[in-house]
Amino acid sequence: MSQAVIRTEFLCKSFGKLDVLKDISTEIYQGEVVAILGPSGSGKSTFLRCMNLLERPTKGRVYFNEQEITNSKTNILKVRSSLVMVFQHFNLFPHMTVLQNVTYAPIKVKKVDKQQAKQKGLELLGKVGLAEKADVYPSKLSGGQKQRVAIARALAMEPEMILFDEPTSALDPEMVKDVLDVMKSLAQLEITMAIVTHEMGFAREVASRIMFLDRGSIAEDTTPSEFFRNPQCDRAKQFLEKML
Ligand code: ADP
Ligand code: MG
Repeated sequence: MSQAVIRTEFLCKSFGKLDVLKDISTEIYQGEVVAILGPSGSGKSTFLRCMNLLERPTKGRVYFNEQEITNSKTNILKVRSSLVMVFQHFNLFPHMTVLQNVTYAPIKVKKVDKQQAKQKGLELLGKVGLAEKADVYPSKLSGGQKQRVAIARALAMEPEMILFDEPTSALDPEMVKDVLDVMKSLAQLEITMAIVTHEMGFAREVASRIMFLDRGSIAEDTTPSEFFRNPQCDRAKQFLEKML
């Protein structure tokens, strides 16, 4: 068995009186592509954000490569440079060109040589099909192009794992495929990924594992073929009836 990249132990998160995550204990292994599915409000984003401590768990522990990151001594910025997140709304830096967006963190955080970062950035922009956009500003891009820049920016950190929170939800339908195709190519490179998504076709085809969240707990944790053919719990059945 390869090592767990992420491990959670009795992870709980509450906002005031609202218990959003309830004792989640799980592991995500190197090379896995985990699709996190579930109804709106079931805690998917919170779960993802607890993995790199964008949200601080109320209780429980999170380990990244067996290092406990919920421990206050952890340098979380360092962890986040190899456990990167891609957001629904891209979060590009508006005052930077596409290429600057991609090279900023490698230069600032990883102290990569500027010329080297630029070369690598151009290469990554080529990979996501945007080499010719290197010098434009994000405002000139479509949503799908912005998201591909965000993915190139994430890859520029040479991360061990990428967390995606509904990366295609803010996109016009005709843009979705380009972004999913880029994500599919990452899956083939065996980059570990956790992806919150409502794209059932993508989850079925590309994920190696499905986690179905229901009211803050993992209600199902299984293979895509099992989940889509034979969901076990009623909530998953209802969910799939609505989604498919
Ligand atoms: P999902 O991503 O599955 O739709 P979320 O993790 O975003 O669900 O939210 C789960 C629940 O937690 C929702 O009821 C949401 O309103 C609540 N919630 C999320 N973030 C916050 C926050 N920062 N403050 C208060 N409540 C929150
Ligand atoms: Mg969400």
